[in-house]
Amino acid sequence: MKNLKRDIMSKYNNLKFLKETKARISHTCYNCRKEIKKGEIYYPESIGRVNAPGIKLRKFCKECYEKHGEKLLTLE
Ligand SMILES: [Zn+2]
Repeated sequence: MKNLKRDIMSKYNNLKFLKETKARISHTCYNCRKEIKKGEIYYPESIGRVNAPGIKLRKFCKECYEKHGEKLLTLE
């Protein structure tokens, strides 16, 4: 039972993808700390329709996405 939570977490990590989104409010890029302004395109991590409270979803700016692509998902 002890490893159950970690198993669930890694299951969700495998489901993660970057979803192109237009910012409705301003955000901060997790990678470069740049401000993502309202109305700009950014790439938040998403796990689709799965409801997973406690899963930390990060947000990345367009420049970081263009530079690193899906590799952003494996950043620590
Ligand atoms: Zn960035």
